[in-house]
Amino acid sequence: MSADEIVTHSSEETIAKGREIASNLRPPVLVLLRGDLGSGKTTLTKGIISGLGAAKEEEVTSPTFNLVHEFRIHTVPTSDMSSHACKVYHVDLYRIENFHDLESLGLEDALSEKAIVIIEWPERFTFRTDWPTVEIRLDHAGGDSRRIAISNLTVEEGLRSTPHP
Ligand code: ADP
Ligand code: MG
Repeated sequence: MSADEIVTHSSEETIAKGREIASNLRPPVLVLLRGDLGSGKTTLTKGIISGLGAAKEEEVTSPTFNLVHEFRIHTVPTSDMSSHACKVYHVDLYRIENFHDLESLGLEDALSEKAIVIIEWPERFTFRTDWPTVEIRLDHAGGDSRRIAISNLTVEEGLRSTPHP
């Protein structure tokens, strides 16, 4: 397990970090975002999803009420360098109440096809998956500063060691 830790000083810097993370992601991958309210999970996701080319920054908003937002990308570099369509899910489990809620989210469908699944408040549910998982921990570090620690638990699958252009 390797860890990468930085401190950002504005939401723009956090978005830029998200874009950098996006350039290293390829499906299937689960991205778990841990951290308190306001620590920047949704802001980082704006960078990841816009970096993937799935939506504009301003189109990425907190999935507070519908809990899952679905995006689509059409070109993802895969190991054989061919491209294909892929879904990107942005999930927020903060308000998840029970199993009925979870089933109604359709998360199982999301996890049945190779996708990029970004989950805020993953500690609300135990995920059993053999997917490569990237864990990102965000913490308030005073004022507009946020500490962002990234553990790419399964480097060889989830994150490529050299970013593609
Ligand atoms: P979360 O999803 O973790 O609850 P949000 O991303 O929705 O957090 O909110 C973070 C808030 O903090 C936003 O209002 C954002 O503008 C502000 N902010 C200030 N500094 C930063 C920073 N360095 N990184 C991320 N967000 C920041
Ligand atoms: Mg959020």
